[in-house]
This record gives sequence, C-alpha cells and structure tokens, in this order.
Amino acid sequence: MSGWEPVIGLEVHVELATQTKMFCACTVSFGDPPNLHTCPVCLAHPGALPVVNQRAVEYAVRIALALGCTVRPRNVFHRKNYFYPDLPKAYQISQYDEPLAVDGAFDYWVGDERLSCRINRVHMEEDAAKLVHSGESGRIAGSDYSLVDFNRGGTPLIEIVTEPDIASPEAAREFLNQMRNLLVELGVSQCIMEEGQIRWDANISVRPAGSTTLGVRTELKNMNSFRFLQQALESEIPRQTAILEAGGTIDQETLHFDPETGTTSSLRSKEEAHDYRYFPEPDLVPLVMDPAFVEEIRAAQPELPAARIERFVRDYGLSRYDAFVLGAQGPLARFYEAAASGADPKLTANWTMGEYLAHINAAGLEPGHGHVTPARLAALVGLVVDGVISGSAAKQVFALMAEERAEPQEIVETHGLGQISDEGALDAVVARVVADNPAQADQFRAGKEQLLGYFVGLVMKATQGRANPKLANDLVRKALGK
Ligand code: ADP
Ligand code: MG
Ligand code: ZN
Repeated sequence: MSGWEPVIGLEVHVELATQTKMFCACTVSFGDPPNLHTCPVCLAHPGALPVVNQRAVEYAVRIALALGCTVRPRNVFHRKNYFYPDLPKAYQISQYDEPLAVDGAFDYWVGDERLSCRINRVHMEEDAAKLVHSGESGRIAGSDYSLVDFNRGGTPLIEIVTEPDIASPEAAREFLNQMRNLLVELGVSQCIMEEGQIRWDANISVRPAGSTTLGVRTELKNMNSFRFLQQALESEIPRQTAILEAGGTIDQETLHFDPETGTTSSLRSKEEAHDYRYFPEPDLVPLVMDPAFVEEIRAAQPELPAARIERFVRDYGLSRYDAFVLGAQGPLARFYEAAASGADPKLTANWTMGEYLAHINAAGLEPGHGHVTPARLAALVGLVVDGVISGSAAKQVFALMAEERAEPQEIVETHGLGQISDEGALDAVVARVVADNPAQADQFRAGKEQLLGYFVGLVMKATQGRANPKLANDLVRKALGK
C-alpha cells in the first residue's frame, strides 16, 4: 500500500451501568423476559415526560474527566428525528451542538509506542429498543417478521467521538481495547461486548502519505469484536486506495461489514446532520452543571490505567511492556500489587505474567480468584529468593498450589521439594553423573567448557530440579578437576 495512508476516527457507544434508564425509572436489565421494563415514558405514550437520571450524568462526567475533556457548563438535549421500529418516539433524545463535554485526549499504546488521540466530544443520549428478527440466523435479511423488545429502550448511552487521529487498523483496535479498560475501571459500565454494552462505528479515509488534508471517508458498521473492526478496516484501505489510484472518487457512504466474507458492502449513502432535523428537546430544561458537582466527581476519580502503568514502571522498575501487561486491567493490577507488596516486585512480575496468567487463563478464572492468592504467590517468590527452593521446584510448587488450598511452604515440606544445598548430599549425585559420562568428562577436561551446563543439567535432572544450581556448578567443576 505504498504512497497512501489511512486516517481513522471512531465513534464509541457505551451503555451505562445505572440502575434505571436515562429518562424514566425503569430498571436497566439484560436477558429478562421481553418488555418487562417499560413505562409510559420509554414507550412514548402521549404526555409522558422525561426526567434526567442524575447518576447517568455523574457517570458521563466521570468519562469526560478521565478523557481530559472540558465539561461544558450548559448542556442541551436535542431530538434526533428518524423513524425506525426500535424508536417509539420517532426521535432519540441526544445531544447536538451543546454536548456534555468537548476537547479531550486519550493516550494509548501500540506495542511500546505511546499514542494520543484527540477526543472531539462526549455526549449523553438514550439507547434504542432491541429488534428480534424471526428465523434462524437472527438477522433481518430473510426473516419473515421482527419483534420489538423495549427493555433496552431508554438505557443511558454515552457517545465518545474521536478526532481522525488514528493511523492504522491495529491502532484502532488497541484504542478500543484500552478505552474499554478505562471505562471498566471507571465503574461506569461493565462493557460486556456480547451484551452490546460497548459498540463502535469506524470512519476511514485514505490520503497520499504525508498529506495534511483529509480524504472522503466511509463509515463502517456492524463490527462487534475487536478482530472484526481490524478486519473491516484492513479490507477498506485497499478498496479506497484502488479507487483513488484509478482516478475515481470515494462515495461518502455507510458500509456494512460482513464477518462471513470479511468485506464491506454499501448500506446507504451517508446521512447529514440536517437530515435528522435536530431541535432542542422542549420537555427538558438545559442541564446546568454545578462546578461543585463536577469537582466532587473529579476528586473521587480512581487511578486510571495509563497512570497506573506509568507508576508500575516508576515504582516497581518494570519494563514498559510488563507494566502494560500487569497494569492495563484493574483486577490483575490489584492482584500483582498485593503480591508485590510482599516480595521482590520484578520477580513477582515475572511469576504473575508467566505461571499465574497461564494458570488463570487455563482455568478460566478472573484474576484474584482461585487458590493462588497474592500472599501465597509472594510467599513462593520469597522461598525462591531465600534459596529454599530452586526455580524449577518453584514451578512444581506453583502447579500444586493452583490445585489445592495450601501454603507454598507446606507444599515444599509435604512434597519434599526443598532445595538441596548440602554438599554431602550432592557429592554422590555429581560423582555418579561424572562416572556415567566418561567421554564428556574427558572433553570437558580437555577444555570444552560448554559441557559444564550438560553436567549440571544431569545433576538437576537426577534431583528433580532440587539441587542448588550454584552448588551443583561448583561440585561438578571440582569433580572434574577444574
Ligand atoms: P457524523 O456526525 O457525520 O458522524 P462527525 O464529523 O461527527 O460526523 O465525525 C464522525 C467521526 O468521523 C469522527 O470520529 C471523526 O474523527 C471521523 N472523521 C471525520 N472525517 C474523517 C475523515 N476524512 N477520515 C476519517 N475519519 C473522519
Ligand atoms: Mg456519526
Ligand atoms: Zn420506562
């Protein structure tokens, strides 16, 4: 793809984890029997009036502040008019030219590179109801009829709109992954993707590399996993590039991603804002933000993943990559920090990223669950540091610790895994290993130094990894007269 560069902007939608809906007292739920959580407001009965959910505003402000946005003192809700069966009012209450917050930035990493994406705006709106299409595929194409479940209708929804600052499909994927971590950390949404709690559209254009003007963009929809997002963007770049190279122009349109073919197809020409006939919602007064309310929220913000990652580098001496693996998500970060408070932080990091992550992934556990508690991992690291057990014995202890509720020290004792640091106990083993390998012993004596590792390896094997490696080294040298 020489000579062309992609330009990507994202629109992220997040359903807030409030108890009740954005403008009525109905419960927010997922998976309940259809149309259980409805009332005259969210069913659009004539004369029913919306009331703003204060908790939703609070959550929205949390997001805005975490993204470094300016929370605007005056917010206005607008009606965005369109007809679709999932929207009984025939308009969505959203925000338009006086949104909640503007002008922020989100910092994220791709590999070791720290990137920043400007945030254009964060605004509040309400989710639509869910359409349930008949037929096996569950898709609208080929179904005989569709049913409407209004449980979701009116759920508080936040839209985060980025500037077109993202330069590759991979970066877009990382942006979303890390944005999701941030939102979970803020406690505003669980962001369960299977339940549609976080969704996104991607806008993409290409331009001659190095150019500063933007090309005509398309908007990609229907990518409900990070992989599909990346795939959809990757398929769109060569498509647009080929058109432009042939001297054609890009139609500004909305494209639908088909996971089965991995390509996009045209859904409709892109609508313009004026098509929606936005006008201020007459049933709601402008929302005037009390600065004290905003400051209270700012003061209560938790530490955010980006800051935590920096802190792990600074305080624990971790590499950027390790700090990212351990610090990007709250539950694992808390596990690691609890363990590192009781043992060498770097070794604890290695054990957490290695054995521990492998264990919880294999067992399908959330970090912090299961028998391996932070205190036990710290105790295990301590046993290695103190030379009570060897590194390889520690792996055996870890495996046993994952299976039974027991302290590492107990496991070492009951399974006889303690390190052999007693010269007398190792001498015999070394002597046997040397006697069993006369040819290698001669080569070593003749100067083939590399064979030291071979002998030490045999000693380790003979002791099931329990020999103190340093002592084994010394004894092998001694036995071979070196
Ligand atoms: P709309 O209201 O039509 O959806 P916006 O101006 O709000 O359009 O932009 C929507 C998204 O599209 C934003 O994330 C923005 O960064 C992105 N975007 C705008 N222009 C371009 C472009 N030329 N190429 C790629 N992305 C773009
Ligand atoms: Mg849009
Ligand atoms: Zn309701």
